Amino acid sequence: MIGWIILALLIVLVAVVLLRAAAFKPKDEKRAETVPVEYSEEHAIETLRQMVMCKTVSYYDPEKVDEGELEKFRQLLKDRFPKLNETCELKRFDRTGVLYRWKGKNEGDPTVLMSHYDVVPVEEEQWDKPPFAGIIEDGVLWGRGTLDNKNTLCGIMEAAENLISQGFVPDKDIYFAFAGDEEINGTGADAIVSYFKECGIRPALVLDEGGAVVEGVFPGFAGKMAAVGVAEKGLMDVEFITKSKGGHASAPPPHGPVGYLAQTVVNVEKHPFRFQLTKPIAEMFDTIGRRSSFAMKLVFANLWLFKPVLNMLTKKSGGELNAMMRTTVAFTTMDGSKASNVIPPQAKVGANMRLMGTDTPESAVAYLKQIVNNPDIEIVPLRASNPSPNSSTDSDGWKRVKNAVEQTWTDAVVTPYLMIQCSDSRHYNRITDNIYKFSCAEMSKEERGSIHGNNEKIPVDKIGLTVAFYMRLMQLC
Ligand SMILES: [Zn+2]
Repeated sequence: MIGWIILALLIVLVAVVLLRAAAFKPKDEKRAETVPVEYSEEHAIETLRQMVMCKTVSYYDPEKVDEGELEKFRQLLKDRFPKLNETCELKRFDRTGVLYRWKGKNEGDPTVLMSHYDVVPVEEEQWDKPPFAGIIEDGVLWGRGTLDNKNTLCGIMEAAENLISQGFVPDKDIYFAFAGDEEINGTGADAIVSYFKECGIRPALVLDEGGAVVEGVFPGFAGKMAAVGVAEKGLMDVEFITKSKGGHASAPPPHGPVGYLAQTVVNVEKHPFRFQLTKPIAEMFDTIGRRSSFAMKLVFANLWLFKPVLNMLTKKSGGELNAMMRTTVAFTTMDGSKASNVIPPQAKVGANMRLMGTDTPESAVAYLKQIVNNPDIEIVPLRASNPSPNSSTDSDGWKRVKNAVEQTWTDAVVTPYLMIQCSDSRHYNRITDNIYKFSCAEMSKEERGSIHGNNEKIPVDKIGLTVAFYMRLMQLC
């Protein structure tokens, strides 16, 4: 009898799972119709080429930074965009902050379009073409910053210059907010936000770097998706330190400080943080899951049942998908004895953590303490920031970005997502809830891999699309 009941329940369960998957279809939504825009693609390509030739490399050591190259970049913005510089008011902040204000016809909450003009260093000998020469070959522009993030800065400036030339005036103010120290967690963007705060300015939309138009990243979905970040993870560096009596290596104790630290690392890696399905990821599953293969629909339409499976799979796989589901810990530094025959009086390992959902620096340290479970290992948090709040996908700001993306990448499905890296836009959390993170270009897997890596380059036919995107967005502001 019990056997029959279990069988009946199983049949009901399978039926529910199948029915839910079958009903999991894209919502009826009208895509935005493409408004044609006019711009010079050649001008945009040449602008980005010249931007790449400014060697605006950021270093944590200020001695190494070439201020002349940063200034050369800012001068380029003046020389290359005469109409924009005539029309928009320019203010400088801190060492690198640049803020243009394009005055709108009406009062009201403005739009802020962000970008950064510094880049990370290169290992030049590992590049196939020089990274700062502005070489265009076979329809591809080579150079550090072509994807991160001079392409969007170029797109913003080109779009505004074109629209101003065509007599367009935005409805509300639009600010162009650029920093030249994003890659070293600098103060440029923060100084601009402080200015906004002092003036009581609360942007209706802030758009910064983040997601892109990508293909083949979502399981079971073969189409293109435009991933627009609506939140970003927090960050924390921690050190695990242990002390010993030191001594000569010829007569070691049964367990030395390095052994205890090794155990600590293994323990932490064996006990990942808990699985969390945050709003941005739930919304991404709801948007793209509805367009995925039936096998994946079974999962995404029935997360109430399959969450444990997803938890297990992502725990095993690691990588991006896993990083969207939990707080992560990456061990990155180690420090022990300076000599091979001396037991270190102190040894430490350092980890870089990315916090998510309801995890805070305090709760994360508490969890680590519980896992390590060794009073001789000190856990010291260094710099830390909380995960950002989630920006709404019902706001006007979101609708405008979505609209301009749909107009420009006509075959891409716009979806919210959680950005697992940090960006300068986190500073805006203190003045607005409407922060979106999208790098305004289509990027292949190879291109995404070249960001902060070798051989960063962009096909020139993508440069114009970024201009078109910003022209459409500005017309909605
Ligand atoms: Zn960047």
